[in-house]
Amino acid sequence: MDDSSTRPERALLERLPIGVIWRDMTSHQLHMNAQAKALLRLDSSQEPNLKKALAAMTWQLEDRPLPAHLDPVLLGLNGRTQRPARYCLHRTDTDIYLDVSSYPHETVNGEPQVMVVVLTPISVAVGNGGSSGFDEVLAKVSARLINVDSDDIDGHIDAALAVLGEYCGTDRSYIFQFHNDGTCSNTHEWVRTGISRQKGNLQVLPESSLPWFFKTLRQHNIVAIDDVSSLPSDAVLERFEFEQEDIQSVLCIGLESAGQLLGFVGCDMVHRQQQWQTHDIRRFKLVGEMIASAIQNLAYRNSLNEIQSNLLQANKDLEKLAMQDGLTGVANRRAFDQTLQKELQRAVRQGYPLTLMLLDIDHFKLFNDHHGHLAGDDALKSVAQILADEFQRSGELVARYGGEEFAVILPHNDEIEGVASANRALNGLRALSIPHEHPDVNGPLTMSIGLLVALPKIQTKRDELIAMADQALYLAKAAGRNQMKKTILKGGVSDS
Ligand code: GH3
Ligand code: MG
Ligand code: MG
Repeated sequence: MDDSSTRPERALLERLPIGVIWRDMTSHQLHMNAQAKALLRLDSSQEPNLKKALAAMTWQLEDRPLPAHLDPVLLGLNGRTQRPARYCLHRTDTDIYLDVSSYPHETVNGEPQVMVVVLTPISVAVGNGGSSGFDEVLAKVSARLINVDSDDIDGHIDAALAVLGEYCGTDRSYIFQFHNDGTCSNTHEWVRTGISRQKGNLQVLPESSLPWFFKTLRQHNIVAIDDVSSLPSDAVLERFEFEQEDIQSVLCIGLESAGQLLGFVGCDMVHRQQQWQTHDIRRFKLVGEMIASAIQNLAYRNSLNEIQSNLLQANKDLEKLAMQDGLTGVANRRAFDQTLQKELQRAVRQGYPLTLMLLDIDHFKLFNDHHGHLAGDDALKSVAQILADEFQRSGELVARYGGEEFAVILPHNDEIEGVASANRALNGLRALSIPHEHPDVNGPLTMSIGLLVALPKIQTKRDELIAMADQALYLAKAAGRNQMKKTILKGGVSDS
């Protein structure tokens, strides 16, 4: 993740209703979105030193202050994965209840690269009074529902519906969710023993199938029917539908999040009537709010994950671009330097020979002068293509070393293989017969190659290898171009 406020993903992070704090484990930079700052009641004077401000906070778990080494935010930022758990943060004038969880955003060799801490505000106030025990059960369900993982959400919604059904004494309780096209489906259902399930029949319903019902729900966010037979005359489709299933009373409450109707939670009474009481409505509203926020949080979390993986891909693409030569598409000098260093170490470790070729196009200045720079560019691309086609075994690298010079790294190649490889490259270009019509040349475009076959030692330096290959290239040029000269480095002793 990046701190730049101009990036769209950062803008999205700022819109999330959850607090997100993240730490780059390499640079140790700490960031948080505005919601995290607001939830933690951080003021602008504390912003310059977020680490210090976080360290100064005292969290409580079940009314007991947590020692610093159990601080859930600090633990998360230090690399601990934590399932969502509810904590209380005491700030000057208020207690703030938050679900805190943390997870690694990306791991390399098991090491997290970025740690993300998510703070979910407890938007649902759950009372603890009431003789029924409903609120207590509900509190447990809500703790699981908030910050739920995508894998568990269905199970937790089912559990919430069961609590609702049992405690309100209904026959069927359910969730409907809207699809993007405006239709809706029954996604979760609980039924009392002996009551038929209806979920399978209630999929992809257009609003026009129950116009009165949806109009009322959208207007009042609640549809409470004590007696289906007393429905108004414009609810004829609804009445038909309910009576078919022998439903006598219905209570449905909209699932709203950020002003949007996501669906509804509801229940039916079958074969018997129920006069809906304020406490039934209150319970349904509570469960509805919880489920709506769970669904919404999950959607936000999924979009956060999507943003993160897009970002990762963008980084990978960038990295690849940063290693590529723009004109020819082969590796650039930077990639060459890194690979040569890596292969040098590997060759030393494994005791294998390493072949390095430097290839320089002959009389290329004259080629440009005569045929033009664009034709020169095309010739460079052709040479790169020949080399890329020729050397594509795993571990082999073709790079543009500079201007009209290329380099090829061939791990494991001994002298015989190295020489054969260089000759294949020379012949490949000859076979293309790119005309070089400058009067001083007047023949096909050719190149010269300096070949180094090395059995490097631990003290051998990368630049020594390059210098030796360059020396061989110089000899090839001096000997009349269009040829290869080789040099051998045996256990650190050169032998041309
Ligand atoms: P030699 O045989 O000794 O290597 O002679 P040369 O002319 O090839 O060598 P010199 O170093 O004098 O000239 C290299 C030329 O390569 C000069 C430069 O214009 C050309 N060159 C370098 N990069 C590019 C490029 O990206 N595109 C084109 N068209 N030409 C390039
Ligand atoms: Mg050159
Ligand atoms: Mg040249």
